[in-house]
Amino acid sequence: LVELSHVEKHFGKLHVLKDINLKVGKGEVLVVVGPSGSGKSTMCRTINRLETIDSGTIRIDGQLLPQEGKDLANLRAEVGMVFQQFNLFANKTILENVTLAPVKVRHMDKKEANDLGMDLLARVGVELQANKMPSQLSGGQQQRVAIARALAMKPKIMLFDEPTSALDPEMVNEVLEVMINLASEGMTMICVTHEMGFARKAADNIVFMADGRILEKGTPDEFFDHPKTDRARDFLSKIL
Ligand code: ATP
Ligand code: MG
Repeated sequence: LVELSHVEKHFGKLHVLKDINLKVGKGEVLVVVGPSGSGKSTMCRTINRLETIDSGTIRIDGQLLPQEGKDLANLRAEVGMVFQQFNLFANKTILENVTLAPVKVRHMDKKEANDLGMDLLARVGVELQANKMPSQLSGGQQQRVAIARALAMKPKIMLFDEPTSALDPEMVNEVLEVMINLASEGMTMICVTHEMGFARKAADNIVFMADGRILEKGTPDEFFDHPKTDRARDFLSKIL
């Protein structure tokens, strides 16, 4: 479903992505781990073209990523993204946050969008907060709304970039649970995370990045129990 082939990216002189090759199949959950600055976020952001690439190709469903215009907007609608910061619209209610894009981009009628919105809010467990403002919700609740908002576009793929790192510890699990449910429903997901419990439980494959390169790719058992490189062993010894 997603295929990166020989992707290279520089920020000025800094070589941030080096010959990235990656395939993510339909329904697969890929977890991306690695030290700070290794290029995890940048790689994620190239997939919905929040970052351009210097060379190589990225395909979604066999199609090369569109460069601009309407095709790019359509692509972005199919790739949901959830960031560390929830970025909810502060002056809209929770329900409006979820219905805005389906109404504007998908031209869904208001009633249908509201029904869909309430369904999704129920799915992530915040339906009782539908008419509140984002500032009235806890961080964990806001992040679950951000997930519902991304799902409202009926994406083919969900990208998560450290969705729990800005949360107080007691709220981490409620967000991970929503992600685990999504995974078990067959959503294709690429997740950058430091939550190794989640990685073990939910990931089909794990990619380990360091210095802009993919150094390892394997199942959670392979990666956690038999890391092949010193960099990965060193990384694991620091976080486990
Ligand atoms: P972290 O775990 O801290 O989130 P990361 O693996 O996500 O790290 P990236 O955010 O992808 O790493 O950054 C990779 C490198 O690119 C870092 O050295 C970073 O400083 C640099 N970088 C990221 N974004 C930009 C930018 N817009 N302009 C210049 N350099 C950037
Ligand atoms: Mg990052």
